[in-house]
Amino acid sequence: MTVSKGELDRRLSEFRHRLSQAGIKVTHQRLEIFRELAQSAEHPDAETIFEAVRRRVPTISLDTVYRTLWLFVDLGVLHTLGPPRDRMRFDANVAPHHHFVCVQCGATHDFFCEECDAFRVPDEVRAMGSVHIKQMEVRGVCVKCQKASSKKIRASRKKEET
Ligand SMILES: [Zn+2]
Ligand SMILES: [Zn+2]
Repeated sequence: MTVSKGELDRRLSEFRHRLSQAGIKVTHQRLEIFRELAQSAEHPDAETIFEAVRRRVPTISLDTVYRTLWLFVDLGVLHTLGPPRDRMRFDANVAPHHHFVCVQCGATHDFFCEECDAFRVPDEVRAMGSVHIKQMEVRGVCVKCQKASSKKIRASRKKEET
């Protein structure tokens, strides 16, 4: 799944802007790493990004990818997702949005919701520390996995019938 051309261009120009503001050079490697993430709506982890970027930049190392991603997080052009499993995932969508997470395949989809944005953080939470992001996480089984499991059920039923 990829984002629209317009959204990709918006993310790339924001990226260039933030890096130049911070006095950081937009090297070929940095651009390729960011582009890989910016065009994806799938919230990939570092190893997935590494495998994809390596096809275009064969000299790149996983270590460089990690260091670059954390640099981008510090610059605010990426967000990290709370570890849904063992691997940290990265999100180039830094506009307020929320997530649907499939508990079977780990797919994470963005959704937008004004009511969720307007959610007032309870004072109790504010007393725990300063609030940076309010993000809703909806967990369930995605349509793809639902289809796959109903296919399996149908197949096993057929077997029983014969
Ligand atoms: Zn799924
Ligand atoms: Zn997201």
